[in-house]
Amino acid sequence: MAKDIIRIRGVKKVFRMGNERIFAVNNIDLNIAEGEICCLLGKSGSGKSTLLNLLAGLEKPTKGEIIIANKHVERMNEEQLALFRQQNIGFVFQSYNLLSTLTAMENVMLPLIFERVPKKERIERAKKMLDAVGLKERANHKPNEMSGGQQQRVSIARAFINNPRVVFADEPTGNLDTKTTYEMMDLITGMARKNNQTLIIVTHDLEISEYADRIIHLSDGAIEKIEINQRPT
Ligand code: ADP
Ligand code: MG
Repeated sequence: MAKDIIRIRGVKKVFRMGNERIFAVNNIDLNIAEGEICCLLGKSGSGKSTLLNLLAGLEKPTKGEIIIANKHVERMNEEQLALFRQQNIGFVFQSYNLLSTLTAMENVMLPLIFERVPKKERIERAKKMLDAVGLKERANHKPNEMSGGQQQRVSIARAFINNPRVVFADEPTGNLDTKTTYEMMDLITGMARKNNQTLIIVTHDLEISEYADRIIHLSDGAIEKIEINQRPT
């Protein structure tokens, strides 16, 4: 059995809206193993994104503990979080979040600049990644010169270039057509499997959840059930 890289203990996130309190994440306990592909599945408003944001340290829990690679994420300050994310976490977003003034190559290299990797090595590694996601010919294109699927390929290359231990993907195929969706899911899960990286995918789409080893069903901020997938796609 692989060891747990993520441990979530009694985690709650309550938002206040005037007099109302919204229990976006309501008492979640969950362990995720190193190398596991895990899906957070639930309908809109079930708390998927909030839980992912808590794991990434983008939000602070109202209560509870989040331990990733033996470090308490909920106790880190902004500076510690920035460094922690740089060293351990990759992100893929529904809306790609590429910098529009930079080329595909430059977008992919960005995390390496923060890590102070020398320029020659940056270019080599970014080229390899763009090749791996099938975008060799588009290295010098800017986001608005690429299709949605191509932009998501760039963002996958960027997410994996630092060799992160954990990759978070929030509705990564939400803006893509069916064929591109499967290409993207094959790519992202293939990369994670190859390097034994832990992947957490947020989705409302049952078909996408078929790629995961384990499907965590969320409803009203709580775990409704956990399904083990014996034959992930
Ligand atoms: P999902 O990603 O599953 O669609 P979210 O995590 O975005 O769900 O939201 C869960 C619940 O928390 C929803 O009821 C949403 O309206 C509420 N919520 C999320 N973010 C905030 C916020 N910043 N302020 C107030 N309520 C929020
Ligand atoms: Mg969401």
